[in-house]
Order: sequence, then structure tokens, then C-alpha cells
Amino acid sequence: MGSKSIKLQVPHLFREIFETAVVFLYPANCRVCETSLEVTSLPYICVTCWQDIQFLEPPWCDICGTPNVKGLCDECAVSPPPYGKLRSIALYQTTIQQAIHLFKFEKKRILAQHLIQLINAHIPVDCAITEYDFILPVPIHKRRLWGRGFNQSTLLAKGIAQAAGVPILTDALVRHRHTVAQSSLGIEARQRNIIDAFKIRKPNVIRDKRILIIDDIITTGFTVCEVVNELWKADPAEIDVLTLARTLQG
Ligand SMILES: [Zn+2]
Ligand SMILES: [Zn+2]
Repeated sequence: MGSKSIKLQVPHLFREIFETAVVFLYPANCRVCETSLEVTSLPYICVTCWQDIQFLEPPWCDICGTPNVKGLCDECAVSPPPYGKLRSIALYQTTIQQAIHLFKFEKKRILAQHLIQLINAHIPVDCAITEYDFILPVPIHKRRLWGRGFNQSTLLAKGIAQAAGVPILTDALVRHRHTVAQSSLGIEARQRNIIDAFKIRKPNVIRDKRILIIDDIITTGFTVCEVVNELWKADPAEIDVLTLARTLQG
């Protein structure tokens, strides 16, 4: 088992070394502010832009985490979502938006480690990771996994799980229906697109457990709610959600 997992890691390691070498030899411009990158800065984004991230702070809605709300937001007061609470690290804008794009769509895995450090340094005060039995990244369909080469939420979840010493669950829930990318659709189509996309494979592992779902970004919340609704079928004790970024309408 050990040698098998090492073999699987090697191509990724070469890729990261290659990416580092390219960035070091040809330091281009910052992808956010377009100033020249120093050779000592992190790849693709300058130090100033990394320091410009808008991290979220309380007060926020007790349930959905909408910023600048005390108690419950109007929507949660009328029709609460299926999870216990949802928290996010930062607003989805400028640096975080570009970093997620580079990482997820341009496959710059080299940024994952820095994003994980940002998350672990800014875990919300009311979201203690060690209180969960499992961390569960939102699954992607195997066809998308083949295309992208990795699940961005799994990479982030592994970094969070490792730092907190909490096990990660990657095979208890699958995305059994291939869907077009949510980001390519309008709001109504997104909801239809994601219905019944997930399926529990290991209900016994989930039963009576406290689960923290990890995703890179929350926009409408349809995907996460679909995951949560499927997980409830296995009677877990608690389901909360943590995302790296959120849009303001999320
Ligand atoms: Zn910059
Ligand atoms: Zn709310």
C-alpha cells in the first residue's frame, strides 16, 4: 500500500517542481495587480495581493454565515438550510478568486499548500475542526477527476484534516451523475443541474457521526445542500460546512 501511494504521488511532485522552476526562471506579472513578481514571492500572485485578502469575521448569520448579521439572517429565520452551520474563510474576490481559478481551472497545484495555510490560519472561531469525527470533501464525478487530475476540495480537505488530526472521508459519498459545471449556468439551471448528483456508498460509516463538509467555494449553495440532504439519509449526528471562499449572495 505504502509504495503504491508513493508511486501515485511522483508525477504530481515532478509537476510541482517543474512549475516552481518555470516561475523561478521566468517570474511573470502578478495575476491580480499585474506588477512584476519578485523571484522570492509566491508564484503567480504578489505579496501585496496575498495580504489584501478579505477574511470573514463575525458577526455572521448563526446558520449560513452571511456576514454582518447578528443571530439569523432573514432567509434562515424563514427557511433554514439543511446543514447545522456554514462558515467560510474569505470573500470570493480579487486574490482569492484568482488563486482558486489558477488552482482549480489552470491546475496550478503549487498554490494548494498556500491556500491550505491560509485556511488553517483563519479557521472561524465557532468552527473547531477537532470536534468533528470526519472531514468530507465535496466529491467530483470521476470523469471530471480524470480531466482535472485532482479534486480541489479533497486537496484542501487533506490539508485541514492533517493539521487538525481528524480523519478524511473520500469514499463514503460519490458524485454518481456527471453534470455540467455549475459556474457555467444561471441560478435556476444550477438547481436542476445538481439534483440527485450524489449517492451515499457507506452509510454505516456516517451514522451518528459529526461531519464537516469541505468545498472550495460556495455561491448559490445548491451543491452543498444536495450533499447535505444525501448525507442525512445515513443519520449522522451533525453536518456542518466549511468553504475557502463565498460570494456575498451565497
Ligand atoms: Zn499583485
Ligand atoms: Zn443565514
